[in-house]
Amino acid sequence: MKLFQCQNCAHPLFFENDTCEKCRYQLAYRDSTFDLIALGPDSADWTIPNEGSHQFTYCKNHDFNACNWLVLKTDTTGYCTACKLNRTIPDLSIKKNLKKWKRIEVAKHRLIYQLQKLSLPVQSKLSHPETGLCFDFLSRKGAGENSKNIMTGHANGVVTILISEADSVLREQMKRDMNERYRTLIGHFRHEVGHYYWEQLIFPNDKILNDFRNVFGDERPSYGKALKEYYKNGPEKKWRKNFISKYASSHPWEDWAETWAHYLHILDTLETAYYFGIKVKPQLTNKKHMKMKSAFDPYDEPSFKKIVSKAIPLFFSINSVNRSMGIADVYPFVISKSVIKKMEFIHALVRRDIA
Ligand SMILES: [Zn+2]
Ligand SMILES: [Zn+2]
Ligand SMILES: [Zn+2]
Repeated sequence: MKLFQCQNCAHPLFFENDTCEKCRYQLAYRDSTFDLIALGPDSADWTIPNEGSHQFTYCKNHDFNACNWLVLKTDTTGYCTACKLNRTIPDLSIKKNLKKWKRIEVAKHRLIYQLQKLSLPVQSKLSHPETGLCFDFLSRKGAGENSKNIMTGHANGVVTILISEADSVLREQMKRDMNERYRTLIGHFRHEVGHYYWEQLIFPNDKILNDFRNVFGDERPSYGKALKEYYKNGPEKKWRKNFISKYASSHPWEDWAETWAHYLHILDTLETAYYFGIKVKPQLTNKKHMKMKSAFDPYDEPSFKKIVSKAIPLFFSINSVNRSMGIADVYPFVISKSVIKKMEFIHALVRRDIA
């Protein structure tokens, strides 16, 4: 993600800030320009230069400290682009839910930032029932007999996130039970939304669908059967050669969603490195492939090979820093040649280089 600074005093800011720590100006994010706007502490109206007479206000979810985005005052819903996608939020009369929901919103807003950076369509299913996207943040508690059927997943533009995933203890437990190397809220969002964009960008276009099958394999064999088999027998032995994760080897749809999520991980990480001007020049005899300089914004870079060649040394260095602190690798995966090919396909697709 990009690095923000206060428009009033140039203090560095996080994407989630709604007040500048230094000058106490109010801050709000305007998604149309990817900017945090600063407003004098006593002002009540967000009139923004170059926006003519448009008046803005905080998204309604700012009342819960769950959103700092701006919305036009004339918008009848009162919700920002990111919050318009919420179809179901947790029951906030239950004390612990507010905390969990806020964590979910942090991950969701970062996802929407990224989808907009990629100029992907972000339309709410509530206003576009056929092609839109929406989120259900659900709890199994109180769902009675139905509770087993509530799962994190995607179906027809509805992304469901179990709110228990916002509980770090339960998430860690799931990670261990599922034998996973990485499990985060943002990872869930990136994966599930990948299924949505498969339906939007790939399935309706015969040529793209054919290209997809050439790269990821044929998705038509039974999905249910493939998953059953995967949970029974585990991944194929040599999954590392062709897949980014074990789960990706279960079915081409899951391969797509996993690879898509990793593509988003890589772009976000490299954008952050770019805004911080990170350089890696390790003290190695042969450092040719382990050197990197974040000299470009990955969202503007046509060559995915160039992006991934920077990502590998960057992850290697950050993983090493994490190990110095006794915490898990930030990126505990190996990106094989055939995975790079799949990501190149995704990069070309989102850049509209294939159509
Ligand atoms: Zn400031
Ligand atoms: Zn909002
Ligand atoms: Zn999936």
